[in-house]
Amino acid sequence: MNDQTTTHAIVATRAGGPEVLELREIPVPSPGDGELLVEVAAAGVNFIDTYRRSGVYRIDYPSVLGTEGAGVVVATGSDAGGFTAGDRVAWSDAPRSYAGHVIVRAERALPVPPGIDLQVAAALPLQGMTAHYLATSTYPIAAGDQVLIHAGAGGVGLLLTQLAVARGATVITTVSTEAKADLSRGAGAHHVINYRELTDLTTELPALVRELAGGGVHVAYDSVGKDTFDASLASLRRRGMLVLFGGSSGQVPPFDIQRLNAAGSAFLTRPTLGDYVATRAELLSRAEELFAAVRTGQLNVRIGATFPLTEAAAAHTALEGRRTTGKVLLLP
Ligand code: NDP
Repeated sequence: MNDQTTTHAIVATRAGGPEVLELREIPVPSPGDGELLVEVAAAGVNFIDTYRRSGVYRIDYPSVLGTEGAGVVVATGSDAGGFTAGDRVAWSDAPRSYAGHVIVRAERALPVPPGIDLQVAAALPLQGMTAHYLATSTYPIAAGDQVLIHAGAGGVGLLLTQLAVARGATVITTVSTEAKADLSRGAGAHHVINYRELTDLTTELPALVRELAGGGVHVAYDSVGKDTFDASLASLRRRGMLVLFGGSSGQVPPFDIQRLNAAGSAFLTRPTLGDYVATRAELLSRAEELFAAVRTGQLNVRIGATFPLTEAAAAHTALEGRRTTGKVLLLP
């Protein structure tokens, strides 16, 4: 049972920098049909939250931020999909997750298996599922593939590297510091390039990658976007695939499709998580595989930093300032 009537929440008051985030006291929401009221143990901080805060993706302001987290069900509406108070759940797509309490739709809630810590569970729904669909569905990595992964020490980067290595790929990553290089190697990367040491990313990076990969990579996973897109395209082998899945350095400008021809009949895709977990069956099967890999020790989840919920602005500053590694969490 939930006796609280109000809860803390982090609200984006308008589009802008981290300074627009405010701690407010909001009413604890009531779960409707098919909904769970969850006491949040940890809320995931993701780049998409910064896009929504800054106005890259428009939302109605003021708005409580966040979409990801893990916690304990405290109340349910009718048709709650078999969930009851006391169940531990995680989620990737419950708006207003930067709060002490949040409504999660039962059809999107992931049961957290025993033995998995709620902070680890909060780190998987968005970045883990993304790494999973990228490695298994967008481009199903096969043994012997040469793979390029940018931001190799990031939240998605560390997980994607481990999944790619487990599938038998040779993995080349990029990072911006030596400390991040060590973390990326620890995740299994075979070659790590500090792209801050290159004077001309667009020409030097593909040259290095092509040499390491014996002519180019089968797939380049690019979440950095504006700064790395051209280098990623030039790093592909014939009929390789460029998977642009983010824009941490900024969005890629409009693109001339003829460039795919010049890049060796390259494939380009711009996937998004929602399309790879659209059904409950797909959502659960990806989550189950990830949780199982964590339980058996095959997948190591790095919680790079935790911040009290009240310091959400500092968490955003750190993420946007390239000062984070692995998962960043807010603790209500
Ligand atoms: P990360 O932990 O990867 O953090 C972003 C990293 O990008 C930084 O640490 C930094 O690593 C690198 N980076 C390079 N240039 C810049 C720059 N100018 N400003 C900031 N960072 C830069 O974040 P996430 O794992 O949460 O997300 C990674 C990306 O994946 C984001 O762009 C996000 O939007 C996207 N994403 C896409 C999804 C999808 O389905 N399409 C789902 C989930 C995430 P370094 O210092 O080593 O360069």
